[in-house]
Amino acid sequence: MQKSFTVGSKTFTLDQDKAEAAFAGKKVINGHQTMCFNLLPLKYQWAYELYRKMKANHWEPEDIPMGKDIEQWRDTTLVTDAERWIIRMGIGYFSAAEGIVGDNIQHVVRELVTAPELKLVLGRHAHEENIHADSLLYMISSLGINPHECEAMFEDVPTIVRKNQFVTRISRDLRRDIDLTQAENKKLLAKNIFVFGQCMEGTQFYGLFGMILSLYRQNKFRGIGEMFRYTLRDESNHIEVFRNLFMDLVEENHEIWTPEFKAELRETMREAITLEKEFIRDCLPVNAVGLAVDEFVTYIDYIADRRLEGVGLEPLSVGIKNPLPWLAEMMDIKKEQNFFEGRVTEYQKASALTDGVKDDDL
Ligand code: FE
Ligand code: MN
Repeated sequence: MQKSFTVGSKTFTLDQDKAEAAFAGKKVINGHQTMCFNLLPLKYQWAYELYRKMKANHWEPEDIPMGKDIEQWRDTTLVTDAERWIIRMGIGYFSAAEGIVGDNIQHVVRELVTAPELKLVLGRHAHEENIHADSLLYMISSLGINPHECEAMFEDVPTIVRKNQFVTRISRDLRRDIDLTQAENKKLLAKNIFVFGQCMEGTQFYGLFGMILSLYRQNKFRGIGEMFRYTLRDESNHIEVFRNLFMDLVEENHEIWTPEFKAELRETMREAITLEKEFIRDCLPVNAVGLAVDEFVTYIDYIADRRLEGVGLEPLSVGIKNPLPWLAEMMDIKKEQNFFEGRVTEYQKASALTDGVKDDDL
C-alpha cells in the first residue's frame, strides 16, 4: 500500500508495506538491523514505558547533603566500628558492581538485542549505572576514604571477589562473535540476562541495601542511606527491564525453555544465594544494633524466590515470609515527596511522581 503526501510542487510516496515489514522484523534478537534507530512503530511497549519512568526518576548525587554523614564518620562515639564496616563494604562492593552491570549492558546485552526501543531503555539503564557509580565516588570523596581502599576491597575480600566472578564469567562468555541462531548461544544470553537482572541486581544487591537502610532508619549515615534509597528505586526498574527482556526472549525463542534450562537457572540462583549469604556474614561479622545476621540471610531466600517467580520459575524455599517488613516501607519513596526539598520533583518537571518500589519488588 502506498501513501502520498503532496507539499507544494513535490509529491512524496511512502510505502506502508515497508513500515509494516519493519515492525514485523522487530525481534529481541536476530531481528531487522538498521542504523536509523527506528523507534516507531513501537513493538516492545513496556521498554518505552520503562524508559519514561526511569528518566522521570532522575537524581544527582550532589543534591544529597553529606555533612551529617561526615560528622558521624569521623566521630567514633557516634557510630560503632561494626556500623562503619557496613558502609565500607557497601561502598567497596558497589563501586565494582555498578561498573560491572553497566559494562555488561553496553558491551553484551545492548550489542546483541536488535529492536531499537530495547536499545533505548538499555541506554538509560547503563546511564543510571553511571549515576550510581558517581554517587559512590561522591560518598568516597565526602568521607575522605582513600580510593585505593575500595579497589583493595574488591580484590582482597574473598566474598566480594566470588560475587564479582560469578557475574563477570557469564559476561565474558558472550564477548565474541556469537551466532545467536544457535540454541546454545541463545541460552547463554538468556542466562546472562537472568544472572544480571534477577540474581545480581535483583538478589545480591539486597543484603547491603537492607543493612544500609537499617542504619538509615536509626539516623546513621542518612545521606548515604538516601542515595541508596534512590539507587534502590532505580534497581527495581532495572530488574523489570531485564525481567521483561528475559520473558520476551524466551517467548520468541521457545525452544530454549526446556526443563533442563529451567533447572540450570534455578541452580544458578541457588549459587547466587550461597555467595550472598557468605558475603552478608562478612558485612556483619557481629550482630549490630537492629541488624541480625539471620534476618538478612532469610531475607535473601525470600527475595530470591520472588525473582524466580517473576520469570516463571519455581521458588527454592517455599513459604518464607519477609523477615524485614520495615524494609518494604523504607524502600517506598513515594511517601516522601519532598525528599530533596523539591529537587527531584524539579527533575520530573510536569510529570507526576511515579510510583516507587512496588510491594512485590520487595
Ligand atoms: Fe545500579
Ligand atoms: Mn542497576
